[in-house]
Amino acid sequence: MEYGTLENSTWVRTIRRWADSGSLPHAVILSGPGPRLEAARFLAAAMECRSARSRPCLSCSQCRKVMEEIHPDVLTLSAQDAKELTVKAVRDLRSELYICPNDAPRKIALFPDAGQLNQRDQNVLLKIVEEGPAHAAFLFCVENSGALLPTIRSRCVELKLQQGEAEPEADPGLLRAFAAGQRGAATAYLTELENRRIKREDLQQQLRQAWRICAQALLAQSGGQAVDTQEAALLSRSLSRRQLAALTELLHHYAAECDYNVGVGHVLGALAAEWEKRI
Ligand SMILES: [Zn+2]
Repeated sequence: MEYGTLENSTWVRTIRRWADSGSLPHAVILSGPGPRLEAARFLAAAMECRSARSRPCLSCSQCRKVMEEIHPDVLTLSAQDAKELTVKAVRDLRSELYICPNDAPRKIALFPDAGQLNQRDQNVLLKIVEEGPAHAAFLFCVENSGALLPTIRSRCVELKLQQGEAEPEADPGLLRAFAAGQRGAATAYLTELENRRIKREDLQQQLRQAWRICAQALLAQSGGQAVDTQEAALLSRSLSRRQLAALTELLHHYAAECDYNVGVGHVLGALAAEWEKRI
């Protein structure tokens, strides 16, 4: 999965806004030509994340398990080779959803292709979508939401995913400075950013991009998943797992810090000092 360049996508901003305001819907249709399954995983991570702010943090154990697709409370249901799901699979899923989550706030049913749910299956799900337990959540990925019954649709929030939204690049200089893994390298680069009088919003954007790429590098190291940016590959080659975990956490923390009325110099200085302690 590619989170490195997506921070500016509308869907990422929408999901973060829901998470930050405590208003994550319990049932969402992810439709349109954009990356539906990727967005569903990101949303599932936001639902399960343990971080106090800026969810999903992509670095806590909940987020990592969702991204590695091994979270026990995210139930993914798809018919591998068949066109439609079997009614037994849908009924089993429904029973499972009534059981409390093992280790997370939500138990999530994720349908990578909700077009595989025929009318009968949707009727099996209807009651639990309408009035199921508070921990149950539903993520329906489907190109056209018209494939779902109006009764299901009326209970869901629809998140439309556009293709090819503007996706700004991360600052490769910043990531290379961290990847150097030497004392002073990142500090020198962060000082340079301060001298360039970078604005707080731009700094936040840079830190978020870097954070996402770092989380991706960490995931690649632990789960062997492929990375799609050069920077993520470089970070995962150059830093130890411990260093990557620390850097992911720091970037997350200081990106969130930029929400407050703090000076850019303060954020850059604190980030540099904390990183020096951890390499
Ligand atoms: Zn998290």
